[in-house]
Amino acid sequence: MLLPGSCLRYFVTNRIWDYSLTNHCFSVNTLDGRVKLPYFDKGMSKYFYHSIYSFGTAKLVNKHGKYFLHIPATYEVEECEDAEICNVVGIDRGINFVIATYDSKHKSGFFSGKTIKQKRAHYSKLRKELQMRRTPSARRRIKAIGSRENRWMQDVNHQVSKALVASNPKYTLFVLEDLSGVRPVTERVRTKDRYVSVSWSFYDLEQKLIYKTKHNRSLVLKVDPRYTSQCCPVCGHIEKANRNKKIHLFACKNCGYKSNDDRIGAMNLYRMGINYLTDSQVPSIVTAE
Ligand SMILES: [Zn+2]
Repeated sequence: MLLPGSCLRYFVTNRIWDYSLTNHCFSVNTLDGRVKLPYFDKGMSKYFYHSIYSFGTAKLVNKHGKYFLHIPATYEVEECEDAEICNVVGIDRGINFVIATYDSKHKSGFFSGKTIKQKRAHYSKLRKELQMRRTPSARRRIKAIGSRENRWMQDVNHQVSKALVASNPKYTLFVLEDLSGVRPVTERVRTKDRYVSVSWSFYDLEQKLIYKTKHNRSLVLKVDPRYTSQCCPVCGHIEKANRNKKIHLFACKNCGYKSNDDRIGAMNLYRMGINYLTDSQVPSIVTAE
């Protein structure tokens, strides 16, 4: 929320404990006594329209010469129970596709990673050129490029997670690989540089999805990532040779089931979600964050 600049003289610290907030007025105790201030209330009305929100400790922030109050607003969400789940979506994260999905209607979905790959390559080339210059201004540029790339990637993850939640009904179980171990990530990427940025981005997408599902009465389930790309989603046969990476073909050596290999991970994750709901023996982790 944006405050008029003249109000700043009232505040001694940047943390504001004792205040009250109504639809049009911000009221706070200062050394000069109680002060009431108007504020720019664009987008704020929903916090007053619904009485479910409670406000936390406010923080005064100066950004580009304007003063903002950052106020955390919290509200209780009703949790989704396993028994209420009506839709399961397996989500495979990768590089060629940011995500590949497979859901209860047996529909596959893909979110291309091509633009991301190109943009990353562009930033990486720029960084290399700057590194060779070794000047203080080049170092500053490198830092700025890094933050810009991170903000951009976070925005992509925001869009992807938003689209996932919006295109599925309430009471959906989203199933992801638990990538807290290193191995599955290093399988997908070659250089050390990429490993860092990819795992960071996977984690970021996961956090955004967990946050958004909570608001939509849905759940995120993280499962053991082993063999999700080698296992046949039809008969369960696991063999490395099931998958031919070069021609993007999955062909089961046991039952002969064939499919594009990018779908297989998502199909297996979907199946693990179904197993989780029907068989309590499957070792899985339901996110508790
Ligand atoms: Zn098979």
